[in-house]
Amino acid sequence: MTQIHHSDILIMGAGPVGLSLALAAVRHGLSVRVIDRITPQTLADTAFDGRASALASTSWQMLQNLGLGDRLWRDVCPIDRIAVSDGLRQGALDFDAGVDGMGVMLPNSLLRAALYETASADGDIDLVMAASVTDRTVDAHRATVTLADGRTFTASLLVGAEGRVSPTRDLAGITLSQWSYRQRGIVTAVTLEKSHQNTAFEIFYPDGPLAVLPLNDDDDGRPMASIVWTVPEGKADAWTSLSDRAFGAALTRASGGFLGEMTPIAPRSSWPLTLCQASDMVAPRISLIGDSAHIIHPIAGQGLNLGLRDVAALADVLGEGARLGLDPGDLAQLQRYQSWRMLDNMMMAAATDVLNRLYGLPGGTPSLVRRVGMQLVGRTGLIRRLIVDEARGTSGDLPQLLMASD
Ligand SMILES: Cc1cc2nc3c(=O)[nH]c(=O)nc-3n(C[C@H](O)[C@H](O)[C@H](O)COP(=O)(O)OP(=O)(O)OC[C@H]3O[C@@H](n4cnc5c(N)ncnc54)[C@H](O)[C@@H]3O)c2cc1C
Repeated sequence: MTQIHHSDILIMGAGPVGLSLALAAVRHGLSVRVIDRITPQTLADTAFDGRASALASTSWQMLQNLGLGDRLWRDVCPIDRIAVSDGLRQGALDFDAGVDGMGVMLPNSLLRAALYETASADGDIDLVMAASVTDRTVDAHRATVTLADGRTFTASLLVGAEGRVSPTRDLAGITLSQWSYRQRGIVTAVTLEKSHQNTAFEIFYPDGPLAVLPLNDDDDGRPMASIVWTVPEGKADAWTSLSDRAFGAALTRASGGFLGEMTPIAPRSSWPLTLCQASDMVAPRISLIGDSAHIIHPIAGQGLNLGLRDVAALADVLGEGARLGLDPGDLAQLQRYQSWRMLDNMMMAAATDVLNRLYGLPGGTPSLVRRVGMQLVGRTGLIRRLIVDEARGTSGDLPQLLMASD
């Protein structure tokens, strides 16, 4: 006889967004199961793969609220300032966050491993790894997922956290609007000759922006930075096949040499850049979080931050529902989550899209317009404040998990 395992919530995908939701949901007394096709070894591997994420202050606060602060505080590098420039022209625009900081940078491998190990240690979370899903169904009473080894799992709520390709989204019949930027993000890490002083640099070129983002010093005390270099699709292979030496020299040139020589010290990877927006974030007994619901240009380092805000909002809604004795899959409840998150996600998608297009226009006139615009922003206190609040993640109606507890 097939044994059926039931939980309140079944999360498909143990990425940073899926595991954060697992940790958040059990705090409300809900039982949670997470299914992923990757192995526990991959999730627990802390080796630096060259990828790092900018986490807004509120996202970092949320990770601390979920119990990851003690584990990660030594690994995060604070971002105190953001410096934006139009190529190497004069007139960079600086955003200073003051004492509160703008956010932190953290290697992805350390975030993934910390989330995985914290979730593994939680007796209320069942992690089903290296799983091969053969069937997914949903009816009025439950969602059911069957694995190739015959195990069957049911839940009141099925959450799609599988990233860009989401079978849960397909099961819900939710459509995805998407287009390609015809750009790729080349990602790696470098050591620097001079200190970055906890500044995130965003240097805009017509081909795409170069982001130089602060990381903690390496074991020999050399300053390190994470690199996200947006290049046209057709040129990406040429950039990825360069030797480390030639790539480092190109980076040093493109950054104007203000951080001294840059030396690549991590694998180089290249990511297709797309804008994707799901038509809905919920359906009966289904909800979507993170990249399953939306993917934006990494120009402002906000994709994961949006996903973590989805988690915080969904956890708030589910927590309140649990207190009232509601079924976690109740559609009216899920629709509250959707109306909370949809606008913020779409606004950020639009803002990053406009920014990418605006700086992608070549020629003297667009450059002049951009520089005048940057000077105006620089002089207008309110606009500066709005941009800083957006980067820190403190704008809008904040769910409980994103706030500091007293
Ligand atoms: C170049 C680049 C730089 C970026 N920099 C930043 C940044 O600085 N700050 C920021 O906030 N965001 C950044 N982002 C965005 C960020 O990386 C993503 O938004 C984030 O990783 C999404 O997390 P997720 O958990 O939703 O999805 P993912 O990280 O894609 O995780 C999905 C998980 O689901 C699993 N899975 C997939 N399919 C299945 C299946 N069928 N069954 C079971 N499991 C499945 C996968 O194995 C994986 O573990 C960047 C993105 C790019 C491309």
